[in-house]
Amino acid sequence: MNTLLYPTYARYDVAFERGEGAYLFDTDGRRYLDFAAGIAVNALGHCHPRMVQAVKRQAERLWHVSNLYRIPEQERVAAKLTANSFADAVFFCNSGAEAVETGLKTVRRFHHEEGNPRRWRVVTVEGAFHGRTLAELAAGRQEKHLVGFGPLVDGFDQVPFGDLEAMKRAVTDETAAILVEPVQGEGGVHPMPPGYLKALRGIADAAGILLFYDEVQTGMGRTGKLFAHQWDDVVPDVMAVAKALAGGFPVGACLASAKVACAMTSGSHGSTFGGNPLAMAAAGAVLDVMLEDGFLANVQRLAGLMSQKLSFVADAYPEIVEEVRGLGLLVGLKCTVPAGDVIDALRDDGLLAVAAADNVVRFLPPLIVDEDQVDDAVRILEVVCERLRG
Ligand SMILES: *Cc1c(COP(=O)(O)O)cnc(C)c1O
Repeated sequence: MNTLLYPTYARYDVAFERGEGAYLFDTDGRRYLDFAAGIAVNALGHCHPRMVQAVKRQAERLWHVSNLYRIPEQERVAAKLTANSFADAVFFCNSGAEAVETGLKTVRRFHHEEGNPRRWRVVTVEGAFHGRTLAELAAGRQEKHLVGFGPLVDGFDQVPFGDLEAMKRAVTDETAAILVEPVQGEGGVHPMPPGYLKALRGIADAAGILLFYDEVQTGMGRTGKLFAHQWDDVVPDVMAVAKALAGGFPVGACLASAKVACAMTSGSHGSTFGGNPLAMAAAGAVLDVMLEDGFLANVQRLAGLMSQKLSFVADAYPEIVEEVRGLGLLVGLKCTVPAGDVIDALRDDGLLAVAAADNVVRFLPPLIVDEDQVDDAVRILEVVCERLRG
């Protein structure tokens, strides 16, 4: 182990030196099919020519200025995001954590500006993951993430997954917003139940509070729509995105409707790096590719194919795979054997996957994956299931 680094990650002993599309190559020259995609980040795979070109061109022109000045590249990306979502305004930052944190500040500030400063609490759902800031740890309330980090930041209430009655009870005259992932990613690939988002919208509207989606993982085409909530056609007031937003360049964004965004007045929030020209070049290229005709339809087609094939594997190996679930190309295999063993075996056979809570193996292929690569991945999984069955 390299003791120069914080031991926060139990890293696998493999290092990659090159990526191309859906493939990664390690320092021994071994090829892997990358269905981890940097945890839902490399939406266009590795070194997509359009991204390489955009970033190269920008790198030779201008990397960073400051948000003290107009950044036309930022305005262009914001135009694309708002034209293709509920939102009217965008705040750019550098990670999912910052995007969610911006949203938390936004919902509090909204009620403050409305003359209801008592409304500052946020209700979340059990199993949620919203990031690693102190506030987000309190929002997610995962015991394993909290140990040793002192008293829980106040201002968060949590209700059981899918329980609308509990949600209604949890909303009080101190509540500012409901915060929810349309599909819980880290929590084990749990899509919200049908009709749940619509019911949340109703609860929020009745109480005069805001609906805040964390689409850090589910956004940017991952589920086959640009944003996962678009399947339900239930818009939020605030939304956090990040991971795939710039396809591997660290960029996050908080999107909001006009009436909410205007509460974040001059000086109320900021970011040194957020939305700098180099980052925006990457995000702009990702959006251009994703918004091209047929891109998301193809994600939907491949997702259908993959879930069908994975269901066959689950049926054939019930002693390994208990259930296939998810939405689009955010797929979880709930395992009967330890998920970590399956992930290790898949990696040995050249397929990368990511663990999620609830003993789940998560497949997050790049959205540019093709049918043959899906077939190859499923074949590797079959071989691994056969081997693990012993
Ligand atoms: C990954 C993730 C985050 C945190 O993003 P970072 O970029 O790691 O800070 C927040 N919410 C959800 C739903 C995520 O999947």
